[in-house]
Amino acid sequence: MDLGFIGLGVMGEPMAGHLVAAGHDVVVFNRSHAKVQALESRGAVGGTSPAHVGEKADVVITMLPDSPEVDEVLFGTEGVVTTLRPGSLVIDCSTISPDAAVAIGARLADRDIAFVDAPVSGGDAGAKAGTLAVMMGGDDESVRRAGEVLTAVAASLVHVGPVGAGQLVKAANQMLVAGNIALVAEAVTLLQRTGVDVEAALAVLGGGLAASKVLEMKAPKMLARDFAPGFRVDLHHKDLKIALAAAEQARIAVPLTGVITQLVQALRSAGDGGLDHSALIRALERLSGAAVEGTRSSTPHSVSEGGQPCRQH
Ligand code: NAD
Repeated sequence: MDLGFIGLGVMGEPMAGHLVAAGHDVVVFNRSHAKVQALESRGAVGGTSPAHVGEKADVVITMLPDSPEVDEVLFGTEGVVTTLRPGSLVIDCSTISPDAAVAIGARLADRDIAFVDAPVSGGDAGAKAGTLAVMMGGDDESVRRAGEVLTAVAASLVHVGPVGAGQLVKAANQMLVAGNIALVAEAVTLLQRTGVDVEAALAVLGGGLAASKVLEMKAPKMLARDFAPGFRVDLHHKDLKIALAAAEQARIAVPLTGVITQLVQALRSAGDGGLDHSALIRALERLSGAAVEGTRSSTPHSVSEGGQPCRQH
């Protein structure tokens, strides 16, 4: 299949790589050209603009930070739709608001171009392994076509409803992930402050009802102070605001999501927005007067006799 892929960041680069490896002809474009060159060396064709990608492809996939970038890439002066043929398909894998997805779908439908919102879960590890979970919104035929392409990057592909439904499910996903991270961070802070053997504690917790992918994947990053993204705090904040807006539209209360959004905002205010979302532990440490220095260390905070963590320098 002739594919286009735009947005070669943490997620997009490995996803586009899997599509090339699956035998598709893939034209790629990214704002910074170095990412394009990296994909060219793996067999992709480098595009010079979104319009160039639209000219070469029947199916265009976008993996961009938020809806302004998706709008610009699709509908800007050198946008994909200036060249993409009627009957083609656009698949947006970015996480954007459900309303924005519906608006994009309508604008594309005016040009007889099909659209599927297909946000993903699984993080950079899932993107690299080609084992993402994809939640797809669209009509049956468009979702079937999108599934044929996305099978190269996914372990799980589910049609969850019409255009926009994928983003609603993703909003729920981001509420669950953020809440889980916040509680893992609180638990790790408690364990460290009280002098418990944290590695042993996490081993037993991982075998019981408290087990989760977040515990398994993010607690080790917290202990190692390895906050290289991964998934940036700023992006998770965007997703929580999408979830809060969707809840307001649905006239439901999501108080825990509200509190966690405030914790994530505190993290951004302290200058940590570019770190991995496992850095939420730093916001909780600040609340408790614990050490927050150092974002990379092979050992967790040591605990002094009085139960207070020693500061790392
Ligand atoms: P990223 O910032 O690493 O990558 C975005 C890429 O888009 C960058 O390479 C950037 O140069 C490019 N870009 C931005 N604007 C552009 C434009 N106008 N034209 C062309 N290229 C442009 O972000 P990411 O972590 O890969 O996330 C992408 C999307 O996927 C976001 O919506 C995010 O919320 C979502 N997501 C991320 C993860 C994760 O773990 N990182 C997991 C699931 C979903």
